[in-house]
Amino acid sequence: MDTSDKDTPAISFELFPPKTEKGMEKLKTVVGELNHLNPEYFSVTYGAGGSTQERTFATVDWLREQGIDTAPHLSCIGTDKEEILEILTRYREQGIHRIVALRGDLPSGSGLGGLGELNYANELVALIRQSFGEDFHIEVAAYPEFHPQAENALADLDNFRRKVESGAHGAITQYFYSADAYWRFLDDCKQRGIDIPIVPGIMPITNYSSLARFSDACGAEIPRWIRKRLEAYGDDLSSIQAFGAEVVTALCRQLLEGGAPGLHFYTMNQSGSVLEICSGLGIASGASAT
Ligand code: FAD
Repeated sequence: MDTSDKDTPAISFELFPPKTEKGMEKLKTVVGELNHLNPEYFSVTYGAGGSTQERTFATVDWLREQGIDTAPHLSCIGTDKEEILEILTRYREQGIHRIVALRGDLPSGSGLGGLGELNYANELVALIRQSFGEDFHIEVAAYPEFHPQAENALADLDNFRRKVESGAHGAITQYFYSADAYWRFLDDCKQRGIDIPIVPGIMPITNYSSLARFSDACGAEIPRWIRKRLEAYGDDLSSIQAFGAEVVTALCRQLLEGGAPGLHFYTMNQSGSVLEICSGLGIASGASAT
């Protein structure tokens, strides 16, 4: 599945399902622009407990109608096995052959586990493999800076290994801005006999306050030297975006030169910063940014 070569790294783009007609129209434009970069696939997020189900289906349907390789995300928390199998059957009939399999984020106030038939992503991966064999290429989430709810870093690595042993074919990381965290994570995985491709998840920097809030919640660290610069720009969005593009392009270059198997961009349904980063990396596009 890894189609990268020295000149054209494998890239993929993550979208979220829009809430409004206007959002959907914008997404269509964004996909049109990003598709010029010849990505391996677009992925579409899925709210835990099926909260975005209809919108995820609508976005996936539209992408498939355009003939675009699509990887729907599927979370298992709060959803029963029968429903999960129905969704996967629907996707298989649509010719979809890649799934991003996740636990999903727990509703606030709930304890860990006990919310349904499947409480961890490794159980979802096992269910997909038992029920569909090799029909789907299964991507799972990986956390170079560790998952915020993990008992500790070593337990998190063991839990990641469970997903691989259950049948995951590849992984996409939570975003990070320290390449060292990624290299160390790869070393830790290698020591544990994990040999699936682990693609770095890349979050462009376009707005400081929302990035800071989101990073606190998901356990991704914004290094002090980046945070301080971004804070100092205040409301000056163009400086934030220019600095962000420079920092993230340098990170991507370092990751690719060091042997990362590709890049997965969290686009946030925006094309501008992704196009700028890809252009900086020499990944060609004839598209204009939104
Ligand atoms: P798991 O791998 O199940 O891990 C969750 C926690 O439980 C970790 O702390 C782990 O150490 C621990 N754990 C794992 N297995 C066990 C076990 N067997 N026993 C005890 N502890 C265990 N969320 C969405 O809702 N929708 C999306 O579309 C979505 N897409 C994402 C895409 C990517 C690339 C990433 C990185 C995250 C995405 N998320 C999404 C967020 C994700 O759902 C959350 O980070 C969630 O809290 C954990 O999901 P997971 O699949 O990594 O869970």
